[in-house]
Amino acid sequence: MECIFCQIVKGQQETDVVFENDQIIVFKDVNPKAPVHLLIVPKKHIKSINELEEQDKDLIAQVILLAKEMAIKHKIAKSGYRLTFNVGRGGGQIVDHLHLHLMGGGEK
Ligand code: AMP
Ligand code: ZN
Repeated sequence: MECIFCQIVKGQQETDVVFENDQIIVFKDVNPKAPVHLLIVPKKHIKSINELEEQDKDLIAQVILLAKEMAIKHKIAKSGYRLTFNVGRGGGQIVDHLHLHLMGGGEK
């Protein structure tokens, strides 16, 4: 079976998409750990930061810059937020498709 985030990218899985361009999709985490909890996901299937290559450097920069824009749009830029890449099982990664967590708006 195909990876869950690849299914979301293809529109084959129900989810709450808040932003999308040709390279990146942003959707609400289904199990939010903060009032604002978004996942910034490159459409290209890269397993984790461990598998990131030199050729992906523009893409990963776009992911981080988009996190900044999403923080402004969702009104948590001033109050502050966390950006997290979980890497591998020991790092808390459950979904093996690279994603950046954007969490803010106070603890829930
Ligand atoms: P990680 O532990 O870094 O792999 O985080 C994966 C995140 O994806 C978790 O916070 C899940 O709640 C979230 N998640 C899993 N499936 C979905 C889905 N179908 N739609 C939205 N978020 C999801
Ligand atoms: Zn995938």
